[in-house]
Amino acid sequence: MKIEQVQSTSYKKQRVAIHSHVKGLGLGPDGVATPISAGFVGQEQAREAAGVVVELIRSKKMAGRALLLAGAPATGKTALALGIARELGQKVPFCPLNGSEVYSSEVKKTEILMENFRRAIGIRVKEMKEVYEGEVTEWTPEETEDPLEGYGKKVSHVILSLKTAKGSKQLKLDPSIYENLVKEKVSLGDIIYIDANSGSVKRLGRNESYAKEHDLEADEYVPLPKGDVHKKREVIQDLTLHDLDVANARPQGGKDVHSLLNSLRTPKKSEITDKLRMEVNQIVSGFIERGVAELIPGVLFIDEVHMLDIECFSYLNRALESNIAPIVIFATNRGMTEIRGTDIRGPHGLPVDLLDRCMIIRTQPYTLEEVSQILSIRAKLEGIPVTEESLKALAEISSRTSLRYTVQLLTPAGILSKVAGREQVTEEDVKEADVLFFDAKQSAHMLAEQGDKFIT
Ligand code: ADP
Repeated sequence: MKIEQVQSTSYKKQRVAIHSHVKGLGLGPDGVATPISAGFVGQEQAREAAGVVVELIRSKKMAGRALLLAGAPATGKTALALGIARELGQKVPFCPLNGSEVYSSEVKKTEILMENFRRAIGIRVKEMKEVYEGEVTEWTPEETEDPLEGYGKKVSHVILSLKTAKGSKQLKLDPSIYENLVKEKVSLGDIIYIDANSGSVKRLGRNESYAKEHDLEADEYVPLPKGDVHKKREVIQDLTLHDLDVANARPQGGKDVHSLLNSLRTPKKSEITDKLRMEVNQIVSGFIERGVAELIPGVLFIDEVHMLDIECFSYLNRALESNIAPIVIFATNRGMTEIRGTDIRGPHGLPVDLLDRCMIIRTQPYTLEEVSQILSIRAKLEGIPVTEESLKALAEISSRTSLRYTVQLLTPAGILSKVAGREQVTEEDVKEADVLFFDAKQSAHMLAEQGDKFIT
């Protein structure tokens, strides 16, 4: 069976989840920031500057340059970088990397940087495929006894009905397709398509007739498909150069687009060498020439850039010159600090030649009001009902701890309120959650006081 859906960069996606409310930069057509828009609150000047950078990227004037976001922790640097990627297009890859991640005992620093550069370059492959497409109107897994598994029952097949504007069809599907449906988090009312050959499932969004039921921006709404349920359709798959490197490093099948996509499923890992990367570059150029693929430069976000050393900086200087480089965004919360690997101090811990290539945007601390608004957006997205007082209490906690800590405190506060049988998170739940958990400063303080009680 052929399967084409893969998400090799999934662990990076989890890190983006705390920013899932950020849908763009929230700028008006005149480039002016709307105070609360696209999930963004305040930070107007930085957002407007980021909007100018998006224009520069679109008009291909950022080549050889990078962006540096400088500001205190939790002032929205990552959110801004993600906002830039979202403004460039919903499917534009966003690859976050922490400066400290380049240090490994097994892999060279420059190798890790190179891998992340390639994770940040998207490639969109188009193919005509036979599919079943429509809105899910019925979905019943049929179960049989399974004496071997010990858990009693297993799914023998699934009955699934799909509806289009023209008609509907009931399908009897294999259990493996049931797993694909569960993985895609498909529910009734979603518009999906199933690849007739591979059985892979793609969720396109919810039927737009549901759009008014929720005021959350979280879901994408799509119209009911026209035509038959069973048809030929252009299927688009978004991959990164790194995904293809991984596929190509697995010796099996040919080097055409189908074999590469199939090899993505093999769990075997082999080393990706420069020679193999060159091969992928050539294959990709071939795809592009034949019109079946398109390159989508994404955003490589390097947080805590001062953690990189001089060897990495000279690599970056060269890599930025390459003709298929992603947009590189650095972030730091440091002022004058030592450039790692040298005994020289530099602004933000960066060498002057690299700093010279950077456009710098500063982020400012938030007011209590803005923090409450950010928390309110998060609470809505996570489906946690909160009172105004609890938001104020959280905002106050954030002034002594950090915004990130309070964003994360929302979930336990929600659980505490449910356990207590309350419908909304109250000030009391917030205070209780704050007592149960430690923020970074409290934890450091406790370690300093009781350090002798811990194993070092
Ligand atoms: P930094 O990268 O500067 O340390 P983050 O971007 O990680 O800060 O911000 C911490 C949390 O607050 C994240 O969940 C982020 O999405 C959210 N956040 C920060 N600034 C804003 C803002 N202006 N509007 C909405 N959410 C924000």
